[in-house]
Amino acid sequence: MELEQKVALVTGGSRGIGLAIARSLAEGGARVAIVGRNGERAEAAAASLPGEGHQGIACDVSDADQAAAAVKRATGELGPIDILVNNAGITRDQILLRMSHEDWDEVMGVNLKGAFNMSKLVARGMMRKRDGVILNISSVVGLSGNAGQANYAASKAGLLGFTKSLARELASRNVRCNAIAPGYVTTDMTSELDEEQTEALLAEIPLGRLGTPDDIAGLARFLTGPSAGYITGQVLTVDGGMVM
Ligand code: NAP
Repeated sequence: MELEQKVALVTGGSRGIGLAIARSLAEGGARVAIVGRNGERAEAAAASLPGEGHQGIACDVSDADQAAAAVKRATGELGPIDILVNNAGITRDQILLRMSHEDWDEVMGVNLKGAFNMSKLVARGMMRKRDGVILNISSVVGLSGNAGQANYAASKAGLLGFTKSLARELASRNVRCNAIAPGYVTTDMTSELDEEQTEALLAEIPLGRLGTPDDIAGLARFLTGPSAGYITGQVLTVDGGMVM
């Protein structure tokens, strides 16, 4: 129970990878605030976590005012945030020539600005406390690029620059910032892959299977815990060996 006494906030924690991360941090002893646009789903997810005192909060992280209200509520009910996991993310896939400005802005707004909004709100408290962890969920396509995902890949690559910059800015106050770059993980986000696409993907993955949310959650718990106290500014890829 290495995360006992810690308060974690996981954006997009109501399903998929975020829910697995929230569960894993709760198993470590943390009290967890789960943030998602759908408040009922966030509350149900919080209620499903092991332990007491978790909280589900409705919030669109791309909206600075909603983000501020969510952090205020989480802090008021659970206490200052020790661990922030910027996991909320969306895709609006399209080839460049057909990609609308809305598709670009929406993906940037949630995936990149959402992380900025949330990090800015919790960083001051972490710096004052001389303790805190920010973990950003990027993607292997932020490293490799992907046809049809220029907006998504750019947002995830941006998150890596953001991670390294925060790591440098906040290290003197003992606040760490790292990123996980997952490969293809079975969630709602990837549920539309057809059999042919799945076969093509599997051929690129040395370990021969898609990832599960728990494959990501184990590393998230490690990186947010005391055993990772000397790790900051790093990007760890969890993708079955797809991108080396
Ligand atoms: P998912 O199953 O689609 O879940 C997305 C989560 O984010 C939901 O809880 C959703 O809740 C929340 N969310 C979406 N937009 C939001 C917003 N504007 N404000 C607050 N919450 C929002 O996605 P996932 O596959 O678990 O992905 C989680 C993260 O991992 C994402 O950042 C994704 O880019 C990244 N990732 C996923 C894969 C993969 O293969 N699945 C690979 C690499 C990286 P609401 O709908 O209620 O808002």
